[in-house]
Amino acid sequence: MIKSERSIVGKFGGTSMATSDSIIQSGKIVNSEKMRAVVVSAPGKKNLDDIKVTDSLLRCSQLVNKGEPFEDVFSMVIEKFEDIGRDLEMHNDTIRWLELTHKGIESGFGRDWIASRGENIMARIFSKYIDGFFYDAEDLIILNENRQVNNISYEIIKNKLEKQNIPYVIPGFYGKKFDGSILTFERGGSDITGAIIARGLEADEYQNWTDVDGVRAADPRLIHDAKSIHEMTFREMREMSYRGAGVLMMDAIIPVAEFEIPVIVKNTFNPSNDGTRIVAKRESNTEEIIIGIASRDGFVSIQIGKNGMNSEKGIAGKILECFEENDVSVEHDPTGIDMMSVISHKDQLNGKTDKIINRIKEMVCPDEINVINNIGLVCIVGQNISKKSSFILSKMSSHLLKKGIEISSITYPTEGNSMIIGFNNNNIKEAVIAIYDALIRN
Ligand code: ADP
Ligand code: ASP
Ligand code: MG
Repeated sequence: MIKSERSIVGKFGGTSMATSDSIIQSGKIVNSEKMRAVVVSAPGKKNLDDIKVTDSLLRCSQLVNKGEPFEDVFSMVIEKFEDIGRDLEMHNDTIRWLELTHKGIESGFGRDWIASRGENIMARIFSKYIDGFFYDAEDLIILNENRQVNNISYEIIKNKLEKQNIPYVIPGFYGKKFDGSILTFERGGSDITGAIIARGLEADEYQNWTDVDGVRAADPRLIHDAKSIHEMTFREMREMSYRGAGVLMMDAIIPVAEFEIPVIVKNTFNPSNDGTRIVAKRESNTEEIIIGIASRDGFVSIQIGKNGMNSEKGIAGKILECFEENDVSVEHDPTGIDMMSVISHKDQLNGKTDKIINRIKEMVCPDEINVINNIGLVCIVGQNISKKSSFILSKMSSHLLKKGIEISSITYPTEGNSMIIGFNNNNIKEAVIAIYDALIRN
């Protein structure tokens, strides 16, 4: 029998695993919450100047690919794990796991295998430290070629992780493809592993332990006193994280939302704080219109002008097709009578801009095409935003006007829970502060 009636899956992020002190603190939380399974990240940064283990491993993989020595970079991984291993009295085991990793890198195991070793070693250390049961993610999580979880994983997790007295400890960030090779998620993907395990075990709660008191109404690095959000919906969280609130990865919401498993984001370093509860439907604060603001910079707007565009049927579809053909996602497409602007992130366009422009020229024969770089998008998230749009726009504009910040675009769906406002990249920080003051600060 498990110790607790409630089945809790926890995930501890990089900062919670960065030092032996924070690992000891995380171990206390696992015990006090009587977790059934725990997912851990690779050690993150101890301070601002530090380097994450995953970053060092990815660098090693790049060096190996170029046929260059990777020892100097790998020594940073060794140092970090050795410090932890020594403090937690498992020096010999830690050295053995590091040697296996070193051999794997030398013998040409690929990028994803190398990147996944930070989580793999960390889970082995944490499991030994808390007297848990290490279970490798590659034996639980099967991924399709596109890095999406295959549903068979949920059956495997349910069948393999039987109820027992000690918690399972599982490395985050990766799974295995059908051909047996390791595949990682996107950066920050241990959040997804936690959600997959929670869903597979049909947990009562998925606790995501990080280094802040839950999700805040704005990135605390921009607004240090941003309010903590007590409760929010899965949709609101997905929107916030898609738009830049990296505290919980967007793709971590889908597995738990389908089963309505609440996600609680909490602070390892301040566990008495309630954190944020993410649920299917808000039970409190139902009157609150705006719940939070998120922002991202580095967008590019491709503006297509053609006289009479508004009366040319299907032109918008043809233009968007040019992006789709090149596998580039589109953020939004504010449209005028004779002008359509399609906004994408520069990481998506990644050298494909000219190809897309030439294709648009072939498909719709525009009068002009201009490319505007350096766009930042601010997204405000809440309930029934479109029904309160005039109020929101007037309050927001007056604050922006006072600071002399011009808006470059605005879009919001008719029945949606977000509004996206475009600015010049250089103004994005000031814009977030102005919008926060206008709409959230009391
Ligand atoms: P972990 O290593 O625990 O996964 P992350 O660094 O991925 O932690 O996420 C936590 C960080 O997310 C915080 O330290 C904070 O700087 C950042 N962050 C960005 N937006 C928000 C937000 N709206 N609320 C809280 N934290 C945010
Ligand atoms: N260690 C991985 C990263 O740094 C995954 C994670 O931390 O969630 O991206
Ligand atoms: Mg994270």
